[in-house]
Amino acid sequence: MSTSIKSLGPSITVELEAAEKFVLTPLNGSADDAGIHCIPTREEWLLRLANELRPSFQEVEHPLPERLRVSCSWPSRAALARIQRTIGDCWPPASADQTVEIFISPCLGSALDAGETLVRELIHATGVKGYRKSFSEITRTLGLRKPWRAATATPELRERLNELISRIGPYPHATLDRSMMPYKKDGTRMMKLVCPRDGYTVRTTAKWIKVGMPWCPCGTKMRKGG
Ligand SMILES: [Zn+2]
Repeated sequence: MSTSIKSLGPSITVELEAAEKFVLTPLNGSADDAGIHCIPTREEWLLRLANELRPSFQEVEHPLPERLRVSCSWPSRAALARIQRTIGDCWPPASADQTVEIFISPCLGSALDAGETLVRELIHATGVKGYRKSFSEITRTLGLRKPWRAATATPELRERLNELISRIGPYPHATLDRSMMPYKKDGTRMMKLVCPRDGYTVRTTAKWIKVGMPWCPCGTKMRKGG
């Protein structure tokens, strides 16, 4: 469709007063960044971007909910997965005060990546579930392209996001290295035990193997395997 960029809404005159109250040096900024006006918290930055995008959602007749929170936080599933990592989550009005909650993964350090993910989650915030027809229609119109589950921004949407980001200021976050997670699963690593006679397989921990090797239902003592 050729209407994608037109549907992104008119240029919005942004009131910068709120941001100008804070004059900070970004935590990881270079000397050149010193003194830029920046929003101090990730939540405020993400919500600001979401609000800037509101008119675009009005135009595609899928308005964003009035009650909306956006945080930089771990998605509920596969947030640390090596492949098919989840980078954003949208919960329907699930909090006690009936607010839609969006979480943008701290693995995303760049403003554009966070913005792109935010657009995708905002589509779910309008009440569109799954990735069926209504999702693909509204998504295409807003400027995202397939695959829908990990939709990426078209050049037009990236340009629009970059323009908004340059007005809002730097995303006050830096990529969190998932390999530095403070706890590891290795302590409870499961070991595979196999019956040498028929291949029956069970998994248990080293702790229980020390207690004794289990017996297969066929009556054979099991062995470590794989
Ligand atoms: Zn057996």
